[in-house]
Amino acid sequence: LQEEMRRAVKMNAISELAASIAHEVRNPLTVVKGFLQLMEKDEKGKKKEYFTIALSEMQRAEEIIDEYLNFAKPQFTSLQLLEVNKVAHEIVTLLTPYSLKENVNLSIEQADHAYVYADRNQFKQVLINLIKNAVEATSKNGKVTVHLKQEDKVMNLCIRDTGKGMSTDQLANVGTLFYSTKEKGTGLGTMVSLRIIEEMGGTLTFDSKENIGTEVSILLPLADKNAKKINGLHVS
Ligand code: ADP
Ligand code: MG
Repeated sequence: LQEEMRRAVKMNAISELAASIAHEVRNPLTVVKGFLQLMEKDEKGKKKEYFTIALSEMQRAEEIIDEYLNFAKPQFTSLQLLEVNKVAHEIVTLLTPYSLKENVNLSIEQADHAYVYADRNQFKQVLINLIKNAVEATSKNGKVTVHLKQEDKVMNLCIRDTGKGMSTDQLANVGTLFYSTKEKGTGLGTMVSLRIIEEMGGTLTFDSKENIGTEVSILLPLADKNAKKINGLHVS
């Protein structure tokens, strides 16, 4: 137990540090990005290309900072009735240009109607993290598919990819803080996702075979959508 306490204190310290650095660095980055965008407009040829590269690296820096902020300060959870199939479609639409750029076919194969109580933004964040990982693990012409099944009392949302998969060693480590096998990874995405889903009373599991692919599965208790008020929560 003491070990657990020590771990919690340490996690808190890391979180606060991450949050303050991320926050402080974000502002100057935004200024630099603004100037780069201005200067890019007047350039042609090789120089324009340099600005484009600088801007896309800037974008990457922002994304990393956002991941840290997300990890450090998961925003206040407000549970609402979510129509998961709708949210899944939204996120797949949002990530389609990205997956096209990576030459990966992203699609929804099954989308049952399912309602759960979840924080909309956090739930979206989880889908984005997991689908991005799936696309990143998949080489050209591979597939990432989303399956949403309404089971007895739970909804099961699976993200399957035909990517490189994970060894048993990798599987054991996935979801631990800062664990990443990517050259430019942060090792935060799955950890944040796990935390969010568990906070919502659900489970997040990974199943994987090397060189065949990975299946990530989110289980969440179904909401009773006919109820008008549950646990003091108004439902529209
Ligand atoms: P990052 O994406 O920054 O590396 P994550 O926490 O999102 O951090 O993922 C941690 C690690 O888990 C990845 O580096 C990768 O090794 C492994 N992983 C996660 N999802 C998949 C997947 N769909 N296929 C293969 N490996 C995965
Ligand atoms: Mg990731």
